[in-house]
Order: sequence, then structure tokens, then C-alpha cells
Amino acid sequence: MASGAGAVSLHPVFGHTDLQASLSRALATGSLPPSLLIHGPRGVGKQRLALWLGQLLLCPESGPEGPCGECKGCRMAVNLEHPDLHWYFPLAKPKGVRPAKLSEALEKARYDTIAERKARPLRPASAPAEPTGLYLAVAQALRSHANRRPAVGLRQVFVIGDAETLVPQESSQEAANALLKLLEEPPTSTLIILTSSEPGRLLPTIRSRTMPLHLPPLAPDAVEQFLVEAGGVSPEDARRASHLGRGSIGRALGFLPIEGDPGPLETLRTQAFELLHAASDTDPGAVYRKSLEFGTTRSRGLMPLLELLEDALRDLSVTAARASEGLINSDREDLLERIREARDIHPVAVAKAFRHLEEAKELVAGNVNPQLIVAGLLTRIREELVGNP
Ligand SMILES: [Zn+2]
Repeated sequence: MASGAGAVSLHPVFGHTDLQASLSRALATGSLPPSLLIHGPRGVGKQRLALWLGQLLLCPESGPEGPCGECKGCRMAVNLEHPDLHWYFPLAKPKGVRPAKLSEALEKARYDTIAERKARPLRPASAPAEPTGLYLAVAQALRSHANRRPAVGLRQVFVIGDAETLVPQESSQEAANALLKLLEEPPTSTLIILTSSEPGRLLPTIRSRTMPLHLPPLAPDAVEQFLVEAGGVSPEDARRASHLGRGSIGRALGFLPIEGDPGPLETLRTQAFELLHAASDTDPGAVYRKSLEFGTTRSRGLMPLLELLEDALRDLSVTAARASEGLINSDREDLLERIREARDIHPVAVAKAFRHLEEAKELVAGNVNPQLIVAGLLTRIREELVGNP
């Protein structure tokens, strides 16, 4: 890919030094498995760690201390220009492309996206604007690529981000099978690294062929430090965003304002509190008015909102227990207290409401109409919180 004057290399892996050390030792002793599944919350650096692992494998000087960081291979890897380091991730399906040209169009979109990510390496973890997936054409391209010889070194590495998006797509079974074949018989000197924040949605056959590695959330202090040092964020914004990000750099970035916009997750947080408000309103019409603001397709996009509603409900249960320590949304303390007081909300009622949230998340994964999901969820939460007068 072209490396324009503005090309930036990837930021260093942050906060996972113990895991990096054990992976380096595993490679040095020849015990690194040929396929890995890095799983953990969204935005904790799974794909970044996978790309680092690629660098580790492609650096001829790698040792128990990790990659050398200075050789040509290392430089190409951190600039995302190494011909033996292949990074795949979900993409929007190119529009108006004949099926025969789909592979080519997807490859072009992949290179363009990599160039964008290089230009802006710190991205918030948020839902994409349009549906994306790892399509069959991608899985096939990946398979034929893996059967070629490495371009410059002795090894090649494939990183497949958000691997669970292979499953709910059209022709999903075929796409998954193409990948499965590759995992079953990986060509020698090939490492395949899948990453997923929803490993439960991967096919069991894919899960059973990959060695799982869990990437835990980071300490909020560490996220704050990263935002200030690597992101150039003001200490005040960094403190607020890292608290809301709950150990995920990608999430924390979503609560920071960008060019006059409050930030994608900050916008959703406001919306989550509007939902909570509607669900605690004595007027049942509030629930329906709110639900009508949602579309009728693309339920996957609801997931980040439901996660934020979960945080808001958790805070309501803290408030209902007459505590204020440990609020996630500490800046909404007054609003939470007003809701609690007006409806005399009991912690048990909030605990029951959580169950409905879990059901809604399953519907989201099952691609049900978002309007119906929101209407059903808010109605049930409202029944728990204010009863059904
Ligand atoms: Zn090196």
C-alpha cells in the first residue's frame, strides 16, 4: 500500500506486558500454537496485540524479550507495510459491484481502510455506520493467500479482527467453512490470529481449533495515562473518559469530543438516559414515543446503546440502595436520584429489570426489528420500575 507523507506507525501495545512476555517466551521455545483466538472486551487492544504478535513472528531478531523493534521487518510491521502480515476485518459490502468483482472490490476497500487507520490510529470503539461483515469472498481470498509462500521471510501471519462477524452474514456457513479449512490444515509457518469481543457467537468448530487468549480490561488509571500520553487528551477529559470507558481504551475514546461532536459513545450515553427516563415515566406513551425514534432494520447497531443502558440501570440500583459511591455515570447523580425519589424505586425492581436487558441483547444478536426490541424492553423495564397502573 502507498505510504504517503502523512503515514503514521501504530502506537505501541499498551498495558499487556505480561502477556507479551509470555508470548515471546512461547515463540522462543517453539510452543506458540499455529492459531489463536484473542478475546476480551471491545477496545482493549486485541487487534493491536495481534499485529504486535505478527511483528514478533516476522522479526528475525525476536527473542524472549520480544521483537527487536529496529530491523526492516519490525519497521514494516509497525507501519502496516509488511507483505507477510495480513490484516482482515469486517467491511461494508461494496455497492453496485458484480459478484465476480466482489473479491477485488473488498481487497481495495481493505487497503483503503488500513490507510485510514494508519492516518488515525486511535479510533473509538463504536458501531459502524452501515452493516459490515467478513464476507465469503474475504474468507476465500484469505485461504488462497495463506496457501502461497511468504513474500520476504519464512513466515506469514493473518490477523482476522471481529471474527464473529463471519457468522451472521449471508452465505455465512460457506464463509465459516472456508476459514475452518484453513484452521484445520494451516500451511506450515503460518500463524492465524482471530480476535473477538463476542467469542460466544463464533462457531464452536472455530473455537475448538484455536487457542484462546483472554485480554482483560485495563486499570482505569492506565487508560487515563494512555489518553494523556499517546492521545494528547487534556487530563480532565482523560479522567472522565477513562472512568466511563471502564478499562477499554477504545470505549474511552468514544466519550471524547471530536470536532464539535460530543463523541459517538457520549451521544449514545445521552440516549441511554433518555431511554431510562422513558422507562420510569408514569405515562406509558413515553415508551412508544421513544421507540419510534429507532429504525426497523440493523439491530446489531443497538448493542453499544444497550451496554450503556445497562450501565445506567446499574447506577440506578446503586442509587436505589442509597449509595452514591461507585457510580459509573457520576455526573448523572442528580438525575438518578430524581428518578429514584419520584418512583420510590427499590433495588430489587432494578435487579429484575436487568433480566429483560439480557433478553433484549439476545434479540439484537438474532436481528429482530430494533423498534420492537426497544419498545418491548422499555415496557418490561417500566413494569418493574413503576408497575402497571
Ligand atoms: Zn526486528
